[in-house]
Amino acid sequence: MGFETDFKKWKAEYFGQYCMTKCDKMCCDMRNVSLYVNYGELRKIFGENIDPENYKKMGIKTHNARWVYSIESKCFCGKFDGNTHKCLIYDSRPLSCREYPFLVEKDALVIKSGCSLARGGPEYKKLLEIASLHGKVIVKRR
Ligand code: SF4
Ligand code: SF4
Repeated sequence: MGFETDFKKWKAEYFGQYCMTKCDKMCCDMRNVSLYVNYGELRKIFGENIDPENYKKMGIKTHNARWVYSIESKCFCGKFDGNTHKCLIYDSRPLSCREYPFLVEKDALVIKSGCSLARGGPEYKKLLEIASLHGKVIVKRR
C-alpha cells in the first residue's frame, strides 16, 4: 500500500476521533484560520440561498478566476456545533477541512505548527510509524 492509502486509513481510524473529541483546540473558529472552498462547499456551509450581497458581512471573499472563496468570519464556522464541538457535516465537509492541518510533500508530511497532534500520544506515534514506513519525515510548519 502507498502512503496516501495508509494516511487515509490513519485519518479515518485515528485522527478524526482525536481532532473532534480529544483535542482541546477548535480550528473551526474562523477567527484563527481561513477556509478555502468552492461554490458547492460554500453553499453547504451557508445554505442554498446564500446571497452574494451578504458576502462581505459574512467574511466571504471571492477569487473569481478560480471559483474559489475564502471565509474569514468573525466567529465559528456555521457548521461547528458549539455544544458537542463537532462538525455537523463531518462526512461531507469541504476538501480543505479534510486536508487540514496536513500537507503531503514528496519526502515529508507537513503538519501545521500549533496542531496538538504533534504533542505526542498514540495517534501521533501511529502516524510516525506510517510516515517512516514510506520514507517520509514529519515536519511542523506554519
Ligand atoms: S465545515 Fe466542519 S470541519 Fe469545516 S470549518 Fe466548518 S465545522 Fe469545521
Ligand atoms: S489543533 Fe489539530 S487536532 Fe486540534 S482541532 Fe486543530 S487540527 Fe484538529
